[in-house]
Amino acid sequence: MVFDAIVIGGGLLGTATAYHLVAAGARTLLVDRADVGRATDAGAGILSPETNSRDPEAWFQLAVAAAAYYPTLVERLRDEQAGETGYARCGRLVVAVSDDEAQSFEHARRVVFERQRARGLPKPEDLHEVSAAEARELFPPLAPVRGAIYSRVGARVDGRLLNRALRNAAEARGLLVRAGSVERLVLAGPRASGVVADGETLAAGAVAIAGGAWTEAFGRQLGVRIPVAPQRGQIIHLGLHGVDTGRWPVVSGFHDHYLVAWPDSRVVAGATRETGSGFAPHTTAAGVREVLGEALRVAPGLAGAEIREIRVGLRPLTSDTLPVLGPVPGVDGVFLVTGHGPTGLTLGPYSGKLVAGQMLGKAPEADLRPFSVARFGV
Ligand SMILES: Cc1cc2nc3c(=O)[nH]c(=O)nc-3n(C[C@H](O)[C@H](O)[C@H](O)COP(=O)(O)OP(=O)(O)OC[C@H]3O[C@@H](n4cnc5c(N)ncnc54)[C@H](O)[C@@H]3O)c2cc1C
Repeated sequence: MVFDAIVIGGGLLGTATAYHLVAAGARTLLVDRADVGRATDAGAGILSPETNSRDPEAWFQLAVAAAAYYPTLVERLRDEQAGETGYARCGRLVVAVSDDEAQSFEHARRVVFERQRARGLPKPEDLHEVSAAEARELFPPLAPVRGAIYSRVGARVDGRLLNRALRNAAEARGLLVRAGSVERLVLAGPRASGVVADGETLAAGAVAIAGGAWTEAFGRQLGVRIPVAPQRGQIIHLGLHGVDTGRWPVVSGFHDHYLVAWPDSRVVAGATRETGSGFAPHTTAAGVREVLGEALRVAPGLAGAEIREIRVGLRPLTSDTLPVLGPVPGVDGVFLVTGHGPTGLTLGPYSGKLVAGQMLGKAPEADLRPFSVARFGV
């Protein structure tokens, strides 16, 4: 059988690409090795580009479009009875609780409100500063804050559930899934004609590589540099017996850490960002200390929480932190959809949609040139 498309990798990026391919009628095969440390299974699920003050403009434009796509996708998955996604507009608080955060808070204030003015969105009632008392009312375990920005439109999603729902919906539309490992691409001159998976050649008109932190290996065969490396993230699930946490917003401080509340009396405290960790998806004493230390610095009211679970994921991080999206120059029929680092749950469904569109030869609905692998040279 010749497939229209083969997708390598069954994390959110690969599954989202496969979903959009089959939704457009393409005969598609997804091959996934399900490595331990798959980032999608550990992701916190914060979707809130409007409160981001650090990433470059190219990322921001893509992320805003990606966040706007979520409600449409979630509704479609609901119509398709694909299963829960955990998506909710829970809001997000960005807070400074200590002196060393004052400068970062001022910077965030400037960038966030400048972008809001420039876009005319979100509306002032949806994105504004709040007092320490208002912040505590929204998230009761919070320390006394020195400054707080509140976004009513900030959202969250459960990466595992969303990935499963997309796969369910795609399989219902005919996606074939194979558990296994792609060893290499099959190249005939300047064109890919399929992949070799566990010794078997599988033919396809186009191939998408969504191998997460494991993607770099394909660069050698393709003659391009794909500088994606694993960045370990350790994240801790806390239980608050009998407390209704369902309406609490996401909370972020300025040491790269955050708290995400879920309806089942659960608050997830994240996360380490261990650049250079290598492929070592285990918890460490220092990582757990760091995450709990930060969680309790920002929200001392969580001190009595039960530790329910610790997850570890390897974020696929590029050398310039931007994702890698689109065709591989010089090799027809190969597309990359990877390198989403700490924001792959935000961007993932939309990135998958855009790259699936490219694979099907559709007119681009967004400018993906800033994300081309060509920027890294050979
Ligand atoms: C702790 C943590 C917190 C995070 N929080 C957020 C957040 O709040 N918001 C946000 O937007 N993002 C967040 N992220 C980032 C997000 O989770 C990732 O960017 C995203 O999940 C990456 O998805 P992926 O599909 O590219 O990679 P992965 O989910 O890692 O999946 C890659 C898949 O490819 C497979 N694979 C690789 N090579 C092959 C091969 N040769 N053959 C077959 N299969 C192969 C692997 O086995 C794996 O299943 C977080 C990540 C972590 C770790």
